[in-house]
Amino acid sequence: MKPADPDVSPALECRRLTKTYEGGRVVLDALDFALGAGEFVAVMGDSGVGKSTLLNLIAGLDHADGGEVLIDGSVISSLPDDAATRLRRQKLGFVFQAFHVLPHLTLFQNVAVPLLLNGASPDAAHAMLAAVGLAGRDGDMPRQLSGGELQRVAIARALVHRPRLLLADEPTGNLDPQTAHEVLGLLRAETQSTGAATVMVTHSEAAAAFADRVVILSDGALHAATLQR
Ligand code: ADP
Ligand code: MG
Repeated sequence: MKPADPDVSPALECRRLTKTYEGGRVVLDALDFALGAGEFVAVMGDSGVGKSTLLNLIAGLDHADGGEVLIDGSVISSLPDDAATRLRRQKLGFVFQAFHVLPHLTLFQNVAVPLLLNGASPDAAHAMLAAVGLAGRDGDMPRQLSGGELQRVAIARALVHRPRLLLADEPTGNLDPQTAHEVLGLLRAETQSTGAATVMVTHSEAAAAFADRVVILSDGALHAATLQR
């Protein structure tokens, strides 16, 4: 890996990020984390330990009780709501385990959504669909697709606007091992080609092996891990 460029802000920083659910259960306990531009990290950890909570806080889908999230050097919580929303739209992509492809839109329309939300031309959605192996399928409806194909559409949608940061929560959790391997290879290649830094939550060591580094969430904090390859 190239050494970090000191002039480029990290794609993501979490500073003393804290989340407590009702009943006083501390899920994230002053968690610190930084992700360099273009870096790909896998987050592992036991079920219920707080991995989805962490991604949701980074994405602004949930609110922290303390600490800060910086995306591309901006402290999200210090921005007015509309500016925070705009920054997330531009800088973030999210891939979910259950695909979340919109059933009543064509593949092209699904992938074009982030472009339209950012006031950009939808044209780039054609090339992005081709990049994930779905050339010529622009007018197809999601119901015609397999799980692996649906996740390719979700990856295309998450990267089409060239975000600095991609968040993926168990992206291959609903796929068989062979399809998972193909989708991860594609995810890795497309994040490299668009330059997106990636945080991928996964249970699978085979999936984690696609990452530059692996961290484990336990006791509310992230710890470096070494993987057997
Ligand atoms: P993981 O993704 O690592 O499996 P989660 O982040 O989904 O874990 O959940 C972490 C813990 O927080 C779990 O014990 C879960 O039951 C609890 N939890 C998640 N969301 C909520 C919520 N909205 N309210 C209360 N507890 C929650
Ligand atoms: Mg989860």
